[in-house]
Amino acid sequence: MSFKDLKLNRPLLRAVAEAGYDNPTLVQEKTIPLVLDKKDVIVSAQTGTGKTASFALPILRLLYDRQEASSKKGKKIKALVISPTRELASQIQENFKTYSSYTTLSSYAIFGGTAIEPQKEILKKGIDILIATPGRLLDLHKQDIINLDYVETLVLDEADLMLDMGFVDDVKKIERLCPKEKQTLLFSATIPYKVEQLANSILNNPKRIEVTQNASTSKNVNQLLYYTPKKDKIELCLHLLRQTIKGNIVIFRRTKYGVEKLEQTLLKNGFSAASLHGDKSQTLRQEALTNFKTKKVNILIATDVAARGIDIKDLDAVVNFDLPNIPETYVHRIGRTARAGKSGMAYSMCSADEKLYIKDIEQLIGLQLQVIEDHPYLLDPKAKKEVHKSPNKSKYKKGRKSEASKKKKKRWY
Ligand code: AMP
Repeated sequence: MSFKDLKLNRPLLRAVAEAGYDNPTLVQEKTIPLVLDKKDVIVSAQTGTGKTASFALPILRLLYDRQEASSKKGKKIKALVISPTRELASQIQENFKTYSSYTTLSSYAIFGGTAIEPQKEILKKGIDILIATPGRLLDLHKQDIINLDYVETLVLDEADLMLDMGFVDDVKKIERLCPKEKQTLLFSATIPYKVEQLANSILNNPKRIEVTQNASTSKNVNQLLYYTPKKDKIELCLHLLRQTIKGNIVIFRRTKYGVEKLEQTLLKNGFSAASLHGDKSQTLRQEALTNFKTKKVNILIATDVAARGIDIKDLDAVVNFDLPNIPETYVHRIGRTARAGKSGMAYSMCSADEKLYIKDIEQLIGLQLQVIEDHPYLLDPKAKKEVHKSPNKSKYKKGRKSEASKKKKKRWY
């Protein structure tokens, strides 16, 4: 299938060709016709699948024919995209800007952590497509700077993360501020019950699309596992960075504190590293990301939430400094390397308290991780046997499902 078959018009086709896209991705093939048909949709797809263009292109196509009329009357917000993080909001806006370069349609992103006054000035002039994080949007709406009465399409991006971050009430409030008669598009990497509930409460007879390239992408990644005591992880990480891991590297840690601590250690040891987590100001986060993308630094340390949805291309390696307790998160992380048919490397460090996560990860990806024992910080071999020879499955399941552990998980962000 080509983009022409998707009934996009010439200005959009030109922009897409200039962006270097030859053909639509699977999520685009499935989603674009439904959006053009004004249907509500629930799309289960992750970053890397091309999901942003799957809503941005048809939104621009739908608005295109009315752009002249709208610019004469003064622009009203006709499409609203809600995103959980600032980086994701600005990334989505960059995509809209690229795709709309041969139209007069305008897009703008607003988020917290940056000065509000310049945002007010731009909003007062009028824009067609607004991308926003929930807090800043509600703030500006309360100040009467934003009018959502003309919204025709509402997009909720990364809905599962949005709910994990506690935005459910804000999202519902924003939905109610938009007209009842509108199209709603919900995108989520996973569709847990709470996302399903939200969808049921605000979507109208939605069509479902599922794009699961997740677990299979991990087959192109060379995945190595290092058992090591928790106290030795930093030393092992330094050792691997000196001896083994080369190129552009993202290191995932579970906590903001852990990210900071590792960054300090790497800098002290002469590595060029930057970090990304939710407690950093927007300016610092953007700076870290730019330094990494422009290769000023070759190591980026991040929490899952801060890195979620961010399009980082051409990674040579992903390091799981802490193993995720949700196996899908492992797949999201390592999927950032080995994009577009390339091969990549994933290094996971597993301490005794994380051993139980390995089995689920291996089950999900259908592969056994290759255990590397040729390193100076080995874990007591008896502790390792417990996992591989006699996993205590029931204890593990109970642990993962308990409410207490879910609450704990939230605090990690
Ligand atoms: P997304 O999943 O929206 O974050 O997109 C991931 C990356 O894929 C972005 O860098 C997009 O520019 C790129 N992309 C989106 N659609 C296509 C396509 N049809 N062909 C090639 N690259 C694409």
